[in-house]
Amino acid sequence: MKPFAYVNAADEREAIAALGPRRGRFLPFAGGTDLLALMKNYVATPERLVNVKNLDGTVVRAADGGLKIGAAVRIDDLTNHPDVKRLYPALAQAAEGVGTPQIRNTATVGGNLNQRPRCWYFRNEEFNCLKKGGSRCFAEDGENQFHAIFGNGPCRMVHPSSLAVPAIALRATFRVIGPAGEREIAAGEYFVMSDRNPFGETVLQPTELMTHMILPPPGAVKSATYEVRFQQSHGWPIATASVALHMNGTVIRSARVVMGSVAPIPWRAPAAERVLAGQAISEQAAMEAADAAVQGAKPMSQNGYKVQVARTAVKRAVMQAASMKADWA
Ligand SMILES: Cc1cc2nc3c(=O)[nH]c(=O)nc-3n(C[C@H](O)[C@H](O)[C@H](O)COP(=O)(O)OP(=O)(O)OC[C@H]3O[C@@H](n4cnc5c(N)ncnc54)[C@H](O)[C@@H]3O)c2cc1C
Repeated sequence: MKPFAYVNAADEREAIAALGPRRGRFLPFAGGTDLLALMKNYVATPERLVNVKNLDGTVVRAADGGLKIGAAVRIDDLTNHPDVKRLYPALAQAAEGVGTPQIRNTATVGGNLNQRPRCWYFRNEEFNCLKKGGSRCFAEDGENQFHAIFGNGPCRMVHPSSLAVPAIALRATFRVIGPAGEREIAAGEYFVMSDRNPFGETVLQPTELMTHMILPPPGAVKSATYEVRFQQSHGWPIATASVALHMNGTVIRSARVVMGSVAPIPWRAPAAERVLAGQAISEQAAMEAADAAVQGAKPMSQNGYKVQVARTAVKRAVMQAASMKADWA
């Protein structure tokens, strides 16, 4: 590992000052479960790490009834938080599935949302792929069984963050700070394809830091996340779905359906959302939504199986949300 300097930031102001104008060389360091591995593989070679674990690590009920979740909250604390479990089950369920108990005890919300791709070509220093300034995506003609079935490239990675998927379904926003002040970005606009950011996965500027995830008041929403994995622990999902159903009595007024592990960004399925709107919840409606969600998938040579897996994840997420006890009163 390349030697680096280490700075402990006590608060947001110190963190921004220590990160300075040269991000890329100076990086935020949270649980380190992703960043240290990248550094050991020489994929990231920062000159300075700025510890941001001392920033806000609390989950607070906002005056409007929503939740403000500090970026330094550990994933395990999110999993066990009573308000998250009761009001935003899609988020709690996604958090529960992350990695292993050890990972969830160390990893933070901010680190999870900003973690780098798990594509084996990206993580291997021998492959100078598109995301590292190279000229091609090796997954296109290579080992692509876990890669994207949506998005048409040029990079074929799948977005690695389990929390990003429910964040979009639940209409979360992210508060970020930088030398110019603070701003809030809708989760649905935070993650971008490689044509918009070839060397990163988000709209976060090099000098900015994420400080919070903000969830709107839950309202009459039933939500759930369903993940399909090869193994229940120690790995990433093959495909996931988070759904948020805005209910009007027993009828779905509107829906958000987002799939994970299928594209370089969490992938919204507007066709599935249209199918669900105005329907009473039923297995038939869930099946139709699932069929609509995977319309337009373009698998590569080894990942055709993921289409059916994603379809199943959507159907089961809808049914799981439907069975949720209405606890929003
Ligand atoms: C075996 C294994 C299984 C895993 N399974 C899953 C899984 O199923 N689902 C899943 O989502 N993840 C999974 N992970 C990944 C894990 O969740 C991430 O490594 C972890 O969430 C990263 O959080 P961290 O706090 O350790 O971040 P760090 O490693 O400290 O940082 C990660 C990245 O985020 C940046 N960063 C950190 N904090 C901020 C901030 N506040 N603002 C802006 N940038 C920031 C860092 O600079 C770095 O680039 C798995 C990891 C392992 C090792």
